[in-house]
Amino acid sequence: MPNYIVNNRTQSTGEHEVHTTDCKYFPKIKYYTDLGWHNSCGPAKVAAKKVYANSDGCATCCPDCHTR
Ligand SMILES: [Zn+2]
Repeated sequence: MPNYIVNNRTQSTGEHEVHTTDCKYFPKIKYYTDLGWHNSCGPAKVAAKKVYANSDGCATCCPDCHTR
């Protein structure tokens, strides 16, 4: 089960990306909020939206939750 985080910095398009901690785009510097362990990106994205309403899955590690 992956550990998910949401980037505290927005993408150029304005949304906060959700990543697993082993994603190559995982922010190395601690500019992220820990979302905890989730079975899939679905519940992780729900958790992310409680932090940032404008959250979306990363295309690389969360393709099922990537909508933009
Ligand atoms: Zn990612």
